[in-house]
Amino acid sequence: MSKKRIGIFGSTGSIGKQALEVIAAHPERFEVEVLTAHSSADLLIEQALKFRPNAVVIGDESKYTAVKDVLFDKGIKVFAGPKAMVEVAAWSSIDMMLAAIVGFAGLAPTLSAIEQGTPVALANKETLVVAGDIVMATARRKNVPVIPVDSEHAAIFQCLVGEPGGCLEKVILTASGGPFLGKKPNYLINVKKDHALQHPNWSMGAKITIDSATLMNKGLEMIEAKWLFNLAADQIDVVVHPQSIVHSMVQFTDGSMKAQMGLPDMKLPIQYALGFPERLANDFPRFSFKNYPSLTFEAPDTKTFRNLAIAIEVLKTGGNSACVMNAANEEVVNAFLRNRIGFLQMTEVIEETLAKIPFQATPTLNDYYNTDTAAREYAASLINGLG
Ligand code: NAD
Ligand code: MG
Repeated sequence: MSKKRIGIFGSTGSIGKQALEVIAAHPERFEVEVLTAHSSADLLIEQALKFRPNAVVIGDESKYTAVKDVLFDKGIKVFAGPKAMVEVAAWSSIDMMLAAIVGFAGLAPTLSAIEQGTPVALANKETLVVAGDIVMATARRKNVPVIPVDSEHAAIFQCLVGEPGGCLEKVILTASGGPFLGKKPNYLINVKKDHALQHPNWSMGAKITIDSATLMNKGLEMIEAKWLFNLAADQIDVVVHPQSIVHSMVQFTDGSMKAQMGLPDMKLPIQYALGFPERLANDFPRFSFKNYPSLTFEAPDTKTFRNLAIAIEVLKTGGNSACVMNAANEEVVNAFLRNRIGFLQMTEVIEETLAKIPFQATPTLNDYYNTDTAAREYAASLINGLG
């Protein structure tokens, strides 16, 4: 059997590194065709020396020489800059792209791979939040599978395997609740990044960890689910499940429900997406009910965690509103991580940005780019005013 050649876009991040662990555990199945990083040149070099890809791309052009000096002699092609990332994403030698870049920056390379006809394992949820209509329409036109890596969507995807079309009534996304589950605004007003970065169940990149603390992550995931599974807003529910064992659920038109369960380990959905339609064996730790005598479920507190309420509104509104929300969110998370604004101020900036940026009902890709730029500029000006 020929090996699947994987292009990992964002290989130096949390998802990217775990994907390389999965690949290392299945050398008979997978090979690395391309690795990319934004600025972590040393780690990119180390990964390339171990996995011997055909090419690497470093986003930060100032690091090009440093990477090339080491890898060129080893026969590994080196490119730099965002444009190169989009060009390399279109290489037909990539059998599957793992979209593991964080944020809006992942959109262009992911679309480039889909346009080329390359199947995508999608971790980068912001791609669908920003331009889910265009991304999924392109995937349908090119007959390209988009296999979710996000654990909730991987759960839903697995629950739907083998089911006939038209039998899905609703999906229920589980949320851990993050580190501030049960807390109220008078507590949240003072929390700092070090505390917000302590996620109870998952070890992830900084941006998604803050999104999990504010519940924006679940809002982004509702919008991601809408596009991946072609759902209406009222077909998507959220339930808080602090143990993160049930990764999400599907309710069918006969009232029956399916859930997908397992330990909170992103290597599972990564491996499932890379191996799909097969389910590969592994020796990762197993879940046991003995260690989890109680699995609990409760409604999310959208009065306290208003980012989720905002995202639900945006999910219903559609158009470019999710793009605005995403851009403002990326700016505020960045500012919070640099201790420039407080936890609750993140929500205020997102709300004000949504109120300011003109609504467009049916944006083009170019409109999404312009919306992203305008929303970021406005959110940044609000942050400057606060700081
Ligand atoms: P991370 O911050 O750990 O890694 C991000 C990767 O993207 C790095 O390799 C970085 O070099 C690259 N990158 C960052 N900015 C870039 C830019 N402007 N241009 C090109 N490359 C850039 O993030 P992560 O936690 O691995 O998350 C990646 C994506 O997967 C996010 O969209 C996140 O929401 C999603 N996701 C992550 C997890 C998780 O467990 N970490 C779970 C579900 C979904
Ligand atoms: Mg998730």
